[in-house]
Amino acid sequence: MSWPGKIASQLIKSLFKKPATINYPAQKSGIAEGFRGKLKFDSKKCVGCKMCMRDCPTGAIEIRKIGDKEFEAEINLGKCIYCAQCVDSCFKKALETTEEFELAGLDPEKLKVVFNAKGDNARTDNDSKK
Ligand code: SF4
Ligand code: SF4
Repeated sequence: MSWPGKIASQLIKSLFKKPATINYPAQKSGIAEGFRGKLKFDSKKCVGCKMCMRDCPTGAIEIRKIGDKEFEAEINLGKCIYCAQCVDSCFKKALETTEEFELAGLDPEKLKVVFNAKGDNARTDNDSKK
């Protein structure tokens, strides 16, 4: 068969096939097992050893002492490559990945998420400048 004939036959076949893609974001696909999304930090478990900071390949995580045996984590979601190395490095299991992945935004400052005892994003760099 000539190449225009091959293309025409592929075209006709694909007209009757179900699409391989979905109409995202109107339709959502399932999350694969082991998916690594936005990180979660539990300030109650953190002992401030900074192993997560040391092992992070992109410098996306910073652990700060904010009180007596009290630490907060700032994670720059724009720098994070979602490798979960910090999760593996944390012997206290204070870091976890979640299934949250819709994190895009126009303001890079808003990608710096602060986790502390008050919760996720309790204070951002932007807020502290106000
Ligand atoms: S490795 Fe775990 S315990 Fe150590 S500073 Fe990081 S989050 Fe805290
Ligand atoms: S998931 Fe990877 S890139 Fe993101 S903060 Fe942890 S170690 Fe760094």
